Amino acid sequence: MIEWSEEDLMIRDAVRGWIDAEVRPNLDALESGELPPYDLLRSLYKTFGMDEMARSSFQSRLAKEREGGAAGSDGERAGGGSAAMSMIPVIELCKVAPGLVSAMGVGLGLAAGTIMKRGTPEQKERWALPLLTMEKVGAWAITEPNSGSDAFGGMQATARKDGDEYVLNGSKTFITNGPYADTIVFYCKLDQGEDPRNREILTFVLDRGMPGLEQSKPLRKMGLHSSPTGELFLNDVRAGADRLLSSGAQGGKESARQNFVTERAGVAAMALGVIEECLKLSVEYAKTRELWGQRIGDFQLIQLKLAKMEVARLNVQNLVFRHIEMQRAGRTPTLAEASAMKLYAAQAASEVAQEAVQLFGGNGYMSEYRVEQLARDAKSFQIYAGTDEIQITHIARDLLSR
Ligand SMILES: Cc1cc2nc3c(=O)[nH]c(=O)nc-3n(C[C@H](O)[C@H](O)[C@H](O)COP(=O)(O)OP(=O)(O)OC[C@H]3O[C@@H](n4cnc5c(N)ncnc54)[C@H](O)[C@@H]3O)c2cc1C
Repeated sequence: MIEWSEEDLMIRDAVRGWIDAEVRPNLDALESGELPPYDLLRSLYKTFGMDEMARSSFQSRLAKEREGGAAGSDGERAGGGSAAMSMIPVIELCKVAPGLVSAMGVGLGLAAGTIMKRGTPEQKERWALPLLTMEKVGAWAITEPNSGSDAFGGMQATARKDGDEYVLNGSKTFITNGPYADTIVFYCKLDQGEDPRNREILTFVLDRGMPGLEQSKPLRKMGLHSSPTGELFLNDVRAGADRLLSSGAQGGKESARQNFVTERAGVAAMALGVIEECLKLSVEYAKTRELWGQRIGDFQLIQLKLAKMEVARLNVQNLVFRHIEMQRAGRTPTLAEASAMKLYAAQAASEVAQEAVQLFGGNGYMSEYRVEQLARDAKSFQIYAGTDEIQITHIARDLLSR
């Protein structure tokens, strides 16, 4: 794949039209947190029939599973459409409000994705389907105040067995959709008295309003304002075994790692949206801003910025196209490949957006010109789904183990 197909471009234009009509007029309300993102995302899903596609793809997948058949590829899981169809809305939304994609991606990819990989058919119907159709909001909670990068080693949240039930305690932080989530995929360790670092990881599905579960208000943060982020506090929350997801052959840790792969590849598509938008805005500005009797685009230092942005755009686009081709071929990237893709794309988006602010001068620092929002938003790509430093350790570990 070297470029988008005619059909892809038609989808892209339709999505752009929807964003212009529905998202741009609401950008201030999204940025201030006054408007949570969920109704807009539901409207996107309804407008493009993605809710019905998700429902029918879910039903056929479940029917196959119940007959004992294979579960289907990631491409099919993405909602029945092509891989490009799942990437294009991500790229286009990220040109305007990357937070919308985080809010959507965590509910669909991580919360529903985990239940679809590890749930029983009953658990999938009860919790994953309403997340996949966007009726409900999902969160995926691993990070704790004392364990971020060392998520499993340092995890302190516990599950204690009490009769047929589990009693859950602990707190989670920086949880995307945490304040509004109806359904929470919650990671903790089974406490049977052994050394905390050796305890088994368990994953539960929790519902908003369960006694002992508190969801904080949105935390104030640097950017990504259209994606509410919060804390969760669990105080003796009682969960039946029907809420426990299977650990699978390789355990809860391995399933979370598979999610890292999905999430990291998704960040590259998000980065592409930011880069394309910053480049477009920068070229327009370089052509129209005049100083010393000439447009700033004639200055070589400005040309260098534009050239570096174009290099980043081509590289990240190639990574995204490669990922689409791999999905079509039914291949999943290795953790090292997904980490390399995320490391490069996140840094490129952050640098391009910062340089766009610089190219715009004082206007770049003003919200009206939009690049400052993209620069704040893009910084988050270097932190969540594993920091840059953690991507480096994952790539190196994989290379050195071969
Ligand atoms: C906007 C946003 C949304 C998020 N959403 C979610 C969510 O939905 N669910 C969820 O569970 N979590 C979420 N997170 C949490 C995110 O995954 C963590 O913030 C991230 O993994 C880093 O952990 P930490 O913040 O504890 O930093 P720390 O782990 O404390 O890291 C501090 C610094 O040390 C560096 N460091 C750590 N280990 C090493 C090492 N071995 N070598 C070198 N340097 C190292 C880090 O790179 C970083 O620079 C979100 C975070 C943000 C910012």
